[in-house]
Amino acid sequence: MNVLIVYAHNEPTSFTSAMKNLAVQVLGGQGHNVSVSDLYGQGFSATAQKWDFITTTGGHFNYMLEQKHAAKLDLAYSPDIIAEIQKIKEAGLVLFVAPVWWFSVPAILKGWFDRVLAMGVAWDSGRIYENGLLRGRQAMLILAAGGPQDYYQENGRHEAVPQQILHPINHGTLAFCGFDVHEPFVALNVLGAGDVGRVQMLKDLEYRLQNLLSSPNWLVHHD
Ligand SMILES: Cc1cc2nc3c(=O)[nH]c(=O)nc-3n(C[C@H](O)[C@H](O)[C@H](O)COP(=O)(O)OP(=O)(O)OC[C@H]3O[C@@H](n4cnc5c(N)ncnc54)[C@H](O)[C@@H]3O)c2cc1C
Repeated sequence: MNVLIVYAHNEPTSFTSAMKNLAVQVLGGQGHNVSVSDLYGQGFSATAQKWDFITTTGGHFNYMLEQKHAAKLDLAYSPDIIAEIQKIKEAGLVLFVAPVWWFSVPAILKGWFDRVLAMGVAWDSGRIYENGLLRGRQAMLILAAGGPQDYYQENGRHEAVPQQILHPINHGTLAFCGFDVHEPFVALNVLGAGDVGRVQMLKDLEYRLQNLLSSPNWLVHHD
């Protein structure tokens, strides 16, 4: 299977980078064809701009409708967007590896969602969820969070478990575009856990990745 890892961290010695490297190692070791979109390394732009399109409709500029227009013109997007679209079209599994920032992901990854999961490419009118244009592909979030386990409880400081804060991405973005979505892997208390705790988290992730395709644990699966 072609596996795309969309990786969003600015430091190669980070724990997030270690999770990304582990995913490359485990899935590559299983014989999958793994490629990485290193968003900081590529200098990927997080901002949706008019120059994302080679040509526009010429009328009132509506980013979503320009996306659809460009899709019809054989992908008339800027080269950085086209390169990412080609990668997701070829991928059977897309892993998103990043830290949790403000109950979400860093802007550079949010920008990837905004610019790459384009109308006409990833979804369209009436082509959402089980009819989404990326149907047949799998996706999973692999995230590092600073907050500890007791914060991430409905009765904890954050008043939510990780899956609740990630609902806008898992459901409103990935499942919306047609992806079958694996339960996320969220490493909590990454700074406070100490080396022993972090090594255990990497072992837990290794186990998840080894069994990901043979025994998937679905959060959303479009029948
Ligand atoms: C803008 C912003 C918003 C944030 N919002 C939130 C939020 O909403 N919720 C929340 O919970 N947190 C939040 N945080 C905290 C953030 O989630 C953590 O800082 C982040 O998850 C830490 O992950 P990292 O990969 O950057 O860790 P790093 O700091 O890079 O690494 C943590 C430790 O792991 C060590 N390490 C690296 N590789 C390995 C390895 N192979 N084995 C063992 N140890 C290793 C590193 O040396 C370091 O000591 C926020 C942070 C920022 C900057």
